[in-house]
Amino acid sequence: MSDNPLTDLSIPFLLPSFSLKGRLVRLEDVSTSIIKQHEYPPPIEKVLAELLAASATLAGILKFEGVFTFQTKSKGPLSLSVIDVTHEGHMRGYAQFNPSKINPDDDFSKLLGRGYLAFTVDQGLKIDRYQGIVTLNHTTLPEALEHYFEQSEQLETRFFIDSQKTSEGHWKSSALLLQQMPSQKVEEETWDYIEAVFKTLTPTEFLYFSIPYEILLRRLFHEGGLMIYDPIPLKAKCRCSIERIKSFLATLSEDEVESLLENGQLKMTCEFCNHTYTFERKDLMQVH
Ligand SMILES: [Zn+2]
Repeated sequence: MSDNPLTDLSIPFLLPSFSLKGRLVRLEDVSTSIIKQHEYPPPIEKVLAELLAASATLAGILKFEGVFTFQTKSKGPLSLSVIDVTHEGHMRGYAQFNPSKINPDDDFSKLLGRGYLAFTVDQGLKIDRYQGIVTLNHTTLPEALEHYFEQSEQLETRFFIDSQKTSEGHWKSSALLLQQMPSQKVEEETWDYIEAVFKTLTPTEFLYFSIPYEILLRRLFHEGGLMIYDPIPLKAKCRCSIERIKSFLATLSEDEVESLLENGQLKMTCEFCNHTYTFERKDLMQVH
């Protein structure tokens, strides 16, 4: 892993002259380790890398204590993807797909086809879940997300998202979000300006993480009165544990547990991190 202090960050910033807030997310160790936990075809790896970066920007602009979950469900070859981001910046994610239907150059629209994107925020028992949902019929992930914010939140938003596999097999991915501040109007010329700036941004520059993020943001947005805040570190960390599984098993009857045993063992694999927990019959009887 790279241990680059300039990656795996969520960077908040403001452009007061444009009435916009922003987030830049740069992932390398997080995206690489989450993707490597499973064996995915390259097109799925790429989309998952971008969904991870996009999820971190979305989690970054919401105020919550708990877990933000981003999910896609579709009839396309990428039937399901789930990404969790906690308020502490711990991330995990996985994708389900139909290997026989994937072609090497499939992109977002080919892989997802018709379906939906959903966001939920689970803050435990004290507050209601926040939920957002958008139908998927867009060619790119930025278009789908921009559509969601316009329809559901009445917030004009722009995204720039890209990813790349390095020659060492690392997955670099980055997402940039700009959003109007609630109750402030953004001039049409401002969006035109932002779009013109995005056109100057090449994937090479966007994913060149050896350049400090301040330099990139200053290059792009110095005219907006750029103010950068402290970055939040992001980390690949699953929330599964032997204790959680034991407390789940404790809710089952002895007969139910018995029916799950194979050759006297019960194996449970975490869908997210792919870790397998193995229990012997005698361990299970202690749970009960
Ligand atoms: Zn796990």
